[in-house]
Amino acid sequence: MSMVCTGCGAPLQMEREGEKGYITGDAFMREFPLCQRCYRIKHYGEITPASVTEQDYRAAVMRALERPAVVLYAVDLFDFNGSVVRGLQGVLRQHEVILAANKFDLFPLRTNPDRVRSWLWREARRHELEPAEVFVVSAKSGGGVQSLFDRLRRDARDKPVVVVGMANVGKSSLLNKILQLSDPEEGQLYTTSPFPGTTLGALAFKMAKTGMTVIDTPGLLGTHRLQDRVCTDSLKQILPKQRIRPRVYQLHAGQTLFLGGLARLDFVSGNSQSFVVYAANQLVVHRTKLENADELYERQRGRLLNPPCSSCDPTLQQLVVKKMGFKEGRPVDVVIPGLGWIRLSGAAVDLRLHTPAQIEPAVRPALI
Ligand code: GDP
Repeated sequence: MSMVCTGCGAPLQMEREGEKGYITGDAFMREFPLCQRCYRIKHYGEITPASVTEQDYRAAVMRALERPAVVLYAVDLFDFNGSVVRGLQGVLRQHEVILAANKFDLFPLRTNPDRVRSWLWREARRHELEPAEVFVVSAKSGGGVQSLFDRLRRDARDKPVVVVGMANVGKSSLLNKILQLSDPEEGQLYTTSPFPGTTLGALAFKMAKTGMTVIDTPGLLGTHRLQDRVCTDSLKQILPKQRIRPRVYQLHAGQTLFLGGLARLDFVSGNSQSFVVYAANQLVVHRTKLENADELYERQRGRLLNPPCSSCDPTLQQLVVKKMGFKEGRPVDVVIPGLGWIRLSGAAVDLRLHTPAQIEPAVRPALI
């Protein structure tokens, strides 16, 4: 099949539902065939996610940003480090960037959004992003979305909003919320059109009432994030479903924490102190003696220490060790992209972190 979607320009295919260019046989027979994704946007005003790998992604984003635009840069607040799109900083500097940190509903109730916003400003700069504004939002609850929408409407009168983000940060959910605010009566309100230089899955559409043009680029997948490497069942184990309950462990040197079988933190030396795990509530966190940890991992991986399971990428079982030493100072988070983070209290400590090859752990000032 070599025809392309008359909406987004993706090559049409009937084999893989949910993937780029999927179309049913009936729809394919139409004079101007639209892939399932474009069809839903056009007729139901509902955006479903599309994801691609690096090369297609860069081409789509570069193309969309050839002209002045307001960039809506969506990140997942639960996985800020895994949400930063690498190598895009240069091109983004030529545009106004609005950073929307999504999924705030997952954070403990007492979390102060103003503190989170200040933290985001600092972290964005550390990642060489220069946003014009930062919003803390929840596409799920709708919190913060109205302010974001007002800002976009104000700044994107004569240029399009280009939406960028890694896959699964909630870009589509956020766009759908914005569409509801823009055009509350659903129906045939949106016009989709092929974006120039197509076959890439980027999609331009115009909101009927506000006249705002939105270009949605596909979400990027990355090997450095666990959510893109585990199987669908394991994904359910690591993605938070509800508000995260921080789990506090008072540990002393010679103890180890396992986060499923995907991360292991050895407390090598330092005074007794607290470690707070921020991860999906359903993820098993197991404490053991450091001297037993190797044997426990060999015996229990895929069982008690799960995920990963046998359907996940097998290289997830090749753990790489990183030594980490901290002098006394401010609290920091040891981040495992896609899985969550462990907040250290700021006391001096020597640690060893074991994570799967290619997953890139990071250390950052504590978020909470
Ligand atoms: P996209 O790939 O970036 O377009 O992401 P989606 O909109 O498809 O969302 C990815 C996953 O995150 C889905 O399971 C959504 O239900 C979930 N999600 C999206 N927005 C939110 C949010 O604000 N809060 C929570 N808790 N989950 C969200």
